[in-house]
Amino acid sequence: MSSLPILISGGGLGGLSAAIALAERGFEVTVLEKAAEFTEIGYGIQLGPNATRILRKYGLWDAVAPTAVFPEAMVFLDAIDMREWARVDFNDAFAAHFRHPYVVIHRRDLLGAWLAACERHPRVTLHTSKGLAAIEDRGSGVTVTCEDGTRFTGRCLVGADGLLSPTRAWVIGAAEPRVTGFLAYRGVIPIDKVTDHTYDRCVIGWFGHDIHLVQYALRAGDVLNNVAVFGSPGFARGAAQFGGPEELDAMFAPAHPRVRAMLEYISRDRNWMMRDREPVANWTRGNVTLLGDAAHPTLQYLAQGACMAFEDAVVLADRLAATPDDPNRAFLAYQQARYLRTARIQLTARAFGQVLHAGGVARELRNDLFRGRAPDSFFHEIGWIYRGIPETEI
Ligand SMILES: Cc1cc2nc3c(=O)[nH]c(=O)nc-3n(C[C@H](O)[C@H](O)[C@H](O)COP(=O)(O)OP(=O)(O)OC[C@H]3O[C@@H](n4cnc5c(N)ncnc54)[C@H](O)[C@@H]3O)c2cc1C
Repeated sequence: MSSLPILISGGGLGGLSAAIALAERGFEVTVLEKAAEFTEIGYGIQLGPNATRILRKYGLWDAVAPTAVFPEAMVFLDAIDMREWARVDFNDAFAAHFRHPYVVIHRRDLLGAWLAACERHPRVTLHTSKGLAAIEDRGSGVTVTCEDGTRFTGRCLVGADGLLSPTRAWVIGAAEPRVTGFLAYRGVIPIDKVTDHTYDRCVIGWFGHDIHLVQYALRAGDVLNNVAVFGSPGFARGAAQFGGPEELDAMFAPAHPRVRAMLEYISRDRNWMMRDREPVANWTRGNVTLLGDAAHPTLQYLAQGACMAFEDAVVLADRLAATPDDPNRAFLAYQQARYLRTARIQLTARAFGQVLHAGGVARELRNDLFRGRAPDSFFHEIGWIYRGIPETEI
């Protein structure tokens, strides 16, 4: 077996989970991160049982559980009339069905757990300020040149460098992501600043025509994470500038006053444009492959982007362990195992976004069809997501 390490470009949730998965299979791993430190934005993330199962597999549970919040339910309300239209209870029936919990956690706590595991691992080497700039695949090894001119050679390269991945540009070609015209504003506030505590123990979302607001507690319940999303009217009419806070207020104007009041919890100084890409069947070129958002960026409406990256990491390590001297073969087997599942997430997230953002009669129909269904009757719809990768792979 080659003594060269496996190179990973990108030290986000995908890159660091891949580093642990590969190191646990006995590979030497070198992570090259462009930023000056390994970090995440200061907001929350939801993890389904398909992902918490992976945290447990790699021994991260003790690091994650103390600050994670275990919500009682995921509740969907109408943003106009405030009535509930769907609910999934994370109760005993859910636990029996999916075997692993649904959690919400601060992104920095989650990345910190992976980072600590990498720092402890004797086979993982971490570098910051190493933005990948060029790739050369000679068959016997891959050499990357970083923006500062330093070079690293590995047996193969995994591009976990996100939505605008330079590795993807080399593997598939440079193309801009698909811009949806929907933007997210976020905010985290101390829980004691919240006036209505009805849903403190839930992941709660209010949904209206091209708007939604999602909330859940973080840091063992000390703070509340808020995400407000809307379709930009400026983007729709082709304006050069769009998505400012005045559009946020205008789009939420038809919402119930209690929903509008919660926009106070949102920070107005930064927003995130919702982007994804068309699914592809091939994200491997020679001894270079992609993982996470670099391979299959998805809209957040199923809360599965990072969960998919964790699953990728497990399957990638499994296939490389099967043919360690033939990374190309391993990478083709890995993407074969992953591309339909991740494409299903990408395409279902788009479709679910339309359901969540329905207006007019479509909104009434949604509420009518879903309302009154027993919480565990949704297990069929969500089962394919939360059961995750097959038992044999984990
Ligand atoms: C509003 C919103 C809410 C979301 N909610 C959820 C959720 O609840 N649950 C969930 O599972 N997912 C969620 N996601 C998706 C999730 O955040 C992403 O899928 C996940 O972070 C992708 O991880 P990644 O490591 O593939 O990419 P990234 O997190 O983008 O990491 C890429 C890393 O590569 C580095 N990099 C970039 N260029 C280079 C380079 N040239 N050289 C080296 N390094 C480089 C970056 O600095 C970064 O550290 C959400 C996304 C959004 C936008």
